[in-house]
Amino acid sequence: MKRTDLHTHSSFSNDGKATLAEMVSEAQRQGLAYFGASEHFDTDSVTGKIFSIAQIPEYFAAARALQEETRGGEFTFLVGGEFGFSPKREAQEELLSVFERFSPDFIVNSVHIVDGCDCYFPDYFAGKTKKAAYSAYLSAVRESLDAPYPYQIVGHIGYVSRNAPYPDRKIRYEDFADLYDDILKTIVLKGKILEVNSSAYGAGSEFLPDEDVLSRYFALGGRLVSFGSDAHEPSRISHGREAVLSALKRIGFRSLAVPVRGITVFCPLK
Ligand SMILES: [Zn+2]
Ligand SMILES: [Zn+2]
Repeated sequence: MKRTDLHTHSSFSNDGKATLAEMVSEAQRQGLAYFGASEHFDTDSVTGKIFSIAQIPEYFAAARALQEETRGGEFTFLVGGEFGFSPKREAQEELLSVFERFSPDFIVNSVHIVDGCDCYFPDYFAGKTKKAAYSAYLSAVRESLDAPYPYQIVGHIGYVSRNAPYPDRKIRYEDFADLYDDILKTIVLKGKILEVNSSAYGAGSEFLPDEDVLSRYFALGGRLVSFGSDAHEPSRISHGREAVLSALKRIGFRSLAVPVRGITVFCPLK
């Protein structure tokens, strides 16, 4: 079975803990077939400017050099980005210009900011019921699917539950069935890849989205899924992978999808 990990961050991202070369070298050591760097491209909710990666040209230059160095053999290093969706037009244009200038091999489109606040942090939840906080997040995810820049992967649906302050913080399909159905049907219609992200931080599941959502996606005809560890350090690359693959196989998925510069490669789960 070919192993993949398409959601990782190096120290080019503001919260990465190891150099890109260290991350790539660990991925090679683990024998991955496809390893993707997806540095953070998040925009400020007021100015619309990218703040989460300081040296954008340097990132692409270093990553392309590493890609060249590691070319050949069984290992493919993909140079990507995790674009943090914003409804702000200036922010969307900023992200579109990154795509146009640097042509990343793949883009993970993720929602972090909801109502001007990163929904990983306590401020977002102040004065909000779980229902309100999670509904607003899922509405933002639906809006993100219509982003004007090209993207292939829909990142970590359920991110809002990672660090929520509620006693039961799990986000369940049954509690937001209409919102989830709209999101999942749109992903299927647009031919996007649904990411299964193993950095759930105990949000009532081992990965995001959890099995209930993945099963519904499958029932709606969704077959394109990718694996991402969201590693910010070498030791986290591939972590939680087995649990994700077991769940996907149980549901009926047969392969992982890898977007490689406009072409989707399929890696069978067996
Ligand atoms: Zn993210
Ligand atoms: Zn990430």
